[in-house]
Amino acid sequence: MLSTMQDVPLTVSRILDHGSTVHGASQVITWTDGDPHRRTFAAIGRRAAQLAHALRDELSVADDERVGTLMWNNAEHMEAYLAIPSMGAVLHTLNLRLPAEQLVWIINHAEDRVVLVNGSLLPLLAPLLAQLPKVEHIVVVGAGDTSVLDGARARVHDYEELLAGRPEAYDWPETDERAAAALCYTSGTTGDPKGVLYSHRSLYLHSMQVNSAEAFALTSRDITLPVVPMFHVNAWGLPHAAFMAGASLLMPDRFLQPAPLAEMIETVRPTVGAAVPTIWQGLLAELDAGRRDVACLRTVVIGGSACPPALMRGFEERHGIRVVHAWGMTETSPLGSVAHPPAGVGGEEEWDYRATQGRFPASVEARLIGPGGERLPHDGTAAGELEVRGPWIAGAYYGGAQDGPLRPDDKFSPDGWLRTGDVGTITPNGYLTLTDRAKDVIKSGGEWISSVELENHLMAHPHVAEAAVVAVPDDKWGERPLATVVLTPDATIGYEELKTFLGERIARWQLPERWALIPAVPKTSVGKFDKKVLRRQYAEGELD
Ligand code: ADP
Repeated sequence: MLSTMQDVPLTVSRILDHGSTVHGASQVITWTDGDPHRRTFAAIGRRAAQLAHALRDELSVADDERVGTLMWNNAEHMEAYLAIPSMGAVLHTLNLRLPAEQLVWIINHAEDRVVLVNGSLLPLLAPLLAQLPKVEHIVVVGAGDTSVLDGARARVHDYEELLAGRPEAYDWPETDERAAAALCYTSGTTGDPKGVLYSHRSLYLHSMQVNSAEAFALTSRDITLPVVPMFHVNAWGLPHAAFMAGASLLMPDRFLQPAPLAEMIETVRPTVGAAVPTIWQGLLAELDAGRRDVACLRTVVIGGSACPPALMRGFEERHGIRVVHAWGMTETSPLGSVAHPPAGVGGEEEWDYRATQGRFPASVEARLIGPGGERLPHDGTAAGELEVRGPWIAGAYYGGAQDGPLRPDDKFSPDGWLRTGDVGTITPNGYLTLTDRAKDVIKSGGEWISSVELENHLMAHPHVAEAAVVAVPDDKWGERPLATVVLTPDATIGYEELKTFLGERIARWQLPERWALIPAVPKTSVGKFDKKVLRRQYAEGELD
């Protein structure tokens, strides 16, 4: 028997309508080198309508067509975030830090005909155009040297000129909530990049979850600072969630270094911030070094890589900012789990919970699978590969306009769950602890060593700025850990002291024999430790 309830599609245009009217006075504040530029949600709504008219009437963007954005976090990107899905097209965010050949591959695979690009990023796009036969229109947003586009086959438009004079309202179509709304490719560390095609429904439900009290509790009293780029899993869903909640957004544009971040926090006073650990590590050092008033931040969300407990404690104990650890992936929209402690715990026990990857919301089901494909108990001890499913979890990858969805066996189980490639445990009360990525686990003589655990201990040492531990081949044990360490500028110690320090905290057989002091840990395009590069450097003798 069907219910008697109304069947109203959950679409991005509903987020747009709601945010730009009920929360019309909330603001998107774009940082522009000391001088924040403010635009109300109402104005964003009007300009999103103008953008949709321009894309439809001037550039003939069709339903389901992918529209690329090569942009920083700013108000115009927010307009694209709302307009493109609402008009029935697909927002395709392009990761500006990818190697050129991957960007070319992705733009060609998605068949982007129109690309919105920040003027400051034209030098990145221009040299690629010869390899992008399908790109017909380049819409330049903000100032930039357009002479680099001279001779390009594609037509060049100025964003503001394209919008000017167009109607400030749009009769948004009643889109099927299961239709594609946004496309984001994983960074392709192995093989070709894979496109995750989010639906209106998944973005809508995910936004509601981001706003729930068990996640980040955004309200119209908040100002949200997504330092995480809008080209990285939709800035973790924060732009759509904030627009839905009426939470203002502080957009850092291209000012992602610790000093400008500290300055914009002091000036605009955001209440919630989100970024990967490396960004917050840099900000913490900046805060430790000088007197900055950042007490406005009630929550700092850290995810994307395991958050070292020392980083969480540093923010909280020295600056009074509460850190919330969260886990997710491009394929999970990304909100998978959030580490709020259970009721009634305090002191060190609370920290134990907060250092985990946290609990899954009701919409995300999780299971652990052992090496033989068997289901493992959620007893906090048995470690296996994490598989998840839910309404904002990918069930396949985008195969291209002509081909059907891709479901590689190593990424999806026969019964349709997402294989995360992450290894960990789950407690009976639902707390996930990741010990590693399957490909980063160190398999030493039949035992597994968690690289994350060793890194967390090392990063708790006051003279360690960063530490990354990788598996290297070993004749006797198969694999052994190599600890690579970045010392703080004032450090006067060597790795012998670190070995002693670590030896007091872990089992003897886990202690690395191989150490390398390095100037910086190599990072991926989204700022995570790039262990692949470290393994290669070791193989090529660069880390001896
Ligand atoms: P990429 O593969 O390019 O890093 P994603 O951003 O989708 O792409 O990364 C998802 C992966 O990041 C997860 O599968 C997991 O390995 C790691 N990750 C994300 N959040 C956390 C976390 N809180 N703790 C440990 N690992 C995390």
